[in-house]
Amino acid sequence: MASSLPPRGSYLKKENAGTARREMGLKVAPRRNVLSAINNGGAEAAPVVEFSGREDVERLLAEKMKGKSKNDFKGRVEQMSDYIKKLRACIRWYMELEDGYLAEQEKLRGTLDAENSRHTQLEAQLSNAIEELKAANLDLTRRCENLEETLSREKSEKLIAAESYEKEMQERELAESSRDLLTVDLERVTHDAKRFSEQLKMVQDTNKRLQEYNTSLQQYNSNLQADASKSGETISKLQKEKSAMMETMAALRECNNSMSSQLESSRASQQEAIRVKEELRKEVECFRAELKQARDDRDHSVAQLNNLNIELANCKEQIGRSSKECESMSTKVSALEETCNTQQDQIQTLQKQLAVATEKLKLADVTAIEAMTGYEEQKEKIKYLEERLAHAESQIVEGDELRKKLHNTILELKGNIRVFCRVRPLLRFHGDSNGLEGASISFPTSVESAGRAIDLMNQGQKLSFSYDKVFDHNASQEDVFVEISQLVQSALDGYKVCIFAYGQTGSGKTYTMMGRPGNDQKGMIPRSLEQIFKTSQSLESQGWEYFMQASMLEIYNESIRDLLAPGRPNSFDMSASKQYTIKHDPHGNTTVSDLTIIDVFSIADVTNLLEKASHSRSVGKTQMNEQSSRSHFVFTLKISGSNKVNMSKGFLT
Ligand code: ADP
Ligand code: MG
Repeated sequence: MASSLPPRGSYLKKENAGTARREMGLKVAPRRNVLSAINNGGAEAAPVVEFSGREDVERLLAEKMKGKSKNDFKGRVEQMSDYIKKLRACIRWYMELEDGYLAEQEKLRGTLDAENSRHTQLEAQLSNAIEELKAANLDLTRRCENLEETLSREKSEKLIAAESYEKEMQERELAESSRDLLTVDLERVTHDAKRFSEQLKMVQDTNKRLQEYNTSLQQYNSNLQADASKSGETISKLQKEKSAMMETMAALRECNNSMSSQLESSRASQQEAIRVKEELRKEVECFRAELKQARDDRDHSVAQLNNLNIELANCKEQIGRSSKECESMSTKVSALEETCNTQQDQIQTLQKQLAVATEKLKLADVTAIEAMTGYEEQKEKIKYLEERLAHAESQIVEGDELRKKLHNTILELKGNIRVFCRVRPLLRFHGDSNGLEGASISFPTSVESAGRAIDLMNQGQKLSFSYDKVFDHNASQEDVFVEISQLVQSALDGYKVCIFAYGQTGSGKTYTMMGRPGNDQKGMIPRSLEQIFKTSQSLESQGWEYFMQASMLEIYNESIRDLLAPGRPNSFDMSASKQYTIKHDPHGNTTVSDLTIIDVFSIADVTNLLEKASHSRSVGKTQMNEQSSRSHFVFTLKISGSNKVNMSKGFLT
């Protein structure tokens, strides 16, 4: 595995595996060795190291190896192991710090999420309440407006009705007064009529009397005429007597004179009677005229009376109509008053409702203000929490940087290229006896070489080899992985890492790298992948996003075979395979052209690919006896990581 992180600038250039060749060996490589500066003279017992801050760490980083001579390997090793212990303690401190930060970050995130959700909930509730209240208010206002409109309409109608009622009343009063007047008139007219009829009666009586008087006058006249004729007879008699008495005229003349005077007086009385008659006639005429006048008056009065009667009837009719109208108007008015009352009641209830709604609105306003203040507080709290989160995140980023640096320093101190040796246990089917390895292989137990050296007996001659680490035949896959696991972290930190296994056929390379199915026997590749996926998932919380691509190839008979090529024939027909070329770019990346690269998102994806590759290799295994030493399997995982929080990016292979 190899990795690179362009923004770091200082790549640890991938080195091919060491050139040292050992039989039955396993080489775990490569990191640059920086141990040359460490002096001998380290303390015997490991000091208890405690870290209280960055300064301690920087002091540790700045610490120089001192005093040891170049050949005092033991002293240098001890000093180095002390230093490594300190660094381990430092890393542990950083990890604890990081855990603390992560926990706090998680907690803050949780609080933030909860606050956010509560905030959105509150906002939603608030907006709902406001909407409801607005709707209710709108509805009430509309209803109130409608009712006010109806009320004003009703009021105007009532006003009109009251006006018409008043008019009717006035008309009625007018009619009643005119009726009274007419009644008075009628009474007067009746009285007049009565008077006139009395007068008429009187006139008729007078007329009668005058007629009677006239008759008596005519009688008197006829009497007078009879007297006059009598007088004429007398005159003729007298004239005869005159003639007879002419002689006695002298005597008689006196008598004659007296007679003449008598005549004269008679004539005067006749004249008087004529005059009286004339006067009486005139009076009769006058009475007649007066009677006529009285008759005319009576006729006129009767006509007037008739007219008045008709008028009275009309008036009565009108009064009846008016009273009916009055009654209908009264009922209408009472109905309107009732409607008015009910509407006033309605208005009152609505006003009460409005008041209640206004109260509610006020209450809602208060609640809204409270919610707003709460919201503001929450906002401030969120801001504060966000600030703290940002601070914690920046601290984490800083811590992470420092951790990477320290981790790298440790690995550099351990050696950039490290060579491990793993001894395979003897296998039953090989027919080896159990005690044989004891005879040919031994592991020195001295302090300086414990776990780091191996002695082989060859034809009675002892050959000693020392490595960075030696795993005996009892070492489990887990034991081997412990030494490798730190390299996986380096790969995720952006460094190129390569684990290279070599050895004789059957020495256990495939077993070590791939392992066997089952948890205990899993090899380095599945374990590394598990760790990569697990760590990348845990780093997601710090804003890291990883993207993985896998490729697998086999170098067989000096030529490259793509083990993941689609539709690849399961044979060793070399003419059918493509010609792949190895390229090195200026950034230190090594690629193989036309190689199938597959995106992987989980350990299952990679397991499937490994299975596919092992099937593709299976033919090779059958020919292993002759050519297995030429069959090399290369598994490459390219890790691309980016951080949304601190905006860093990286490509790791
Ligand atoms: P190589 O790949 O180097 O040719 P293998 O990994 O195929 O060798 O190992 C050969 C045999 O030895 C296999 O059957 C393997 O299971 C077994 N083997 C190798 N190392 C161990 C070990 N540490 N423990 C148990 N069996 C092992
Ligand atoms: Mg093998």
